[in-house]
Amino acid sequence: MKKLENLDKIVNLCKNRGFIFQGSEIYGGMGNTWDYGPIGVELKNNIKKAWWKMFVQQADNSYGVDAAILMNSRVWDASGHTASFSDPKMDCRNCKTRHRADNLIEEYNKKHGIEDMKVDAMSKEEMYKYIVENQIKCPNCGKCDFTEIKNFNLMFSTKRGVTEDNQDIIYLRPETAQGEFVNFLNVQRSTRAKVPFGIAQIGKAFRNEITPGNFIFRTIEFEQMEHQFFCKEEDGEKYYNEYKQKAWEFATSVGLSAEHLRFKDHDKLAHYAKAACDIQYLFPMGWNELNGIHNRSDWDLSRHQEFSGKSMLYLDPITNEKYVPNDIEYSIGCDRLVLAVLCEAYDEEELEDGETRVVMHFAPHIAPYKVAVLPLQKNLSEKAKEVYKRLQANFMATYDEAGSIGKRYRREDEIGTPYCVTIDFDTLEKGTVTVRDRDTMKQDTIKIDEIEQYLFSRLTK
Ligand SMILES: [Zn+2]
Repeated sequence: MKKLENLDKIVNLCKNRGFIFQGSEIYGGMGNTWDYGPIGVELKNNIKKAWWKMFVQQADNSYGVDAAILMNSRVWDASGHTASFSDPKMDCRNCKTRHRADNLIEEYNKKHGIEDMKVDAMSKEEMYKYIVENQIKCPNCGKCDFTEIKNFNLMFSTKRGVTEDNQDIIYLRPETAQGEFVNFLNVQRSTRAKVPFGIAQIGKAFRNEITPGNFIFRTIEFEQMEHQFFCKEEDGEKYYNEYKQKAWEFATSVGLSAEHLRFKDHDKLAHYAKAACDIQYLFPMGWNELNGIHNRSDWDLSRHQEFSGKSMLYLDPITNEKYVPNDIEYSIGCDRLVLAVLCEAYDEEELEDGETRVVMHFAPHIAPYKVAVLPLQKNLSEKAKEVYKRLQANFMATYDEAGSIGKRYRREDEIGTPYCVTIDFDTLEKGTVTVRDRDTMKQDTIKIDEIEQYLFSRLTK
């Protein structure tokens, strides 16, 4: 599989074809925010559906929740976010821009071929010393004159309360995970779930990052797909490995090639964690985290037990053992997965007539539109619209009668529509249509009544 080298090609295609737009664009945009357009929202929804199918629908012991974004502030005390969810920031004294110290070091090391340094294990003082000793420069102005490194909390805060003097600070959640943890008892009780069981959630999270984002790779508002699997302590390692495998399977099932994926163990483990790794994807800007898998021990539930005063003990109905379950967390950023899928799907192909076609080879089950209905000529549009209406009942379908048939095929290729159904004069005379395959560009002639069956057998996954 060839790797896409140029992220700009994706950014431009996304803007032009309605996948993703800059947030608040008519006002000059807003840094690190992006809006999904008509094509992008379909792609993203299909990815979320595929994830939910694998981690909830097809799992015997997993249950979904959709928790509130705004949570009791005590949640963030218990999770440790209030005290220590921060990035090491420093300001350039010369140009007044703000930077992440760890990122500057990583960039510097990358440029100088230094590969084995564990930057995320360095203290603030060590980082500062390293920056000064190596005269690492401000990416904006080129000077090396920074303030000392300060920890900058990444949670967005807001206020609730109707009067000025009655305001409590609350936070937009920086991760969805706590919504699963605080509902552990509710889910267990209402479903009568027995350990081991899982809780899944897809939802928005917010982080006040100042780092430039590489398009939708790092944004201040993003969507996470998270699954917590609660188990006995002695089974932790087994399920950790199982979820590593499952995470890999999911990544390849949405079309990412195994050559562009790798496991990466964390250099620095949180004190409570027993194991942690990422799956990285080879983005145009290099290997970067796609998802994380963590064995978090009983830390999260124990902390909530401590801070809320509610017992998180699980009573095993067979052995009568009482314990706080351990948690295997699998967390994947939906937006960066969308980006990986876009990069993987993008291709420029030389055609026989010397032209180039841009084609998005999406896995059919995540393609935004499944089928396009195209009348060969305008005077066939009545019949074509009839077919289009029919297909809409079962498929996300689109209709296009503008321009030559070749141009219309190109447009569908660029948004990755797997099948084009062309209505021609044979449709009126013999009741047949031509179905063109996006990837092979081969065409099948089939009976009009068989379109649904033809598409179903090729699209479902
Ligand atoms: Zn500067």
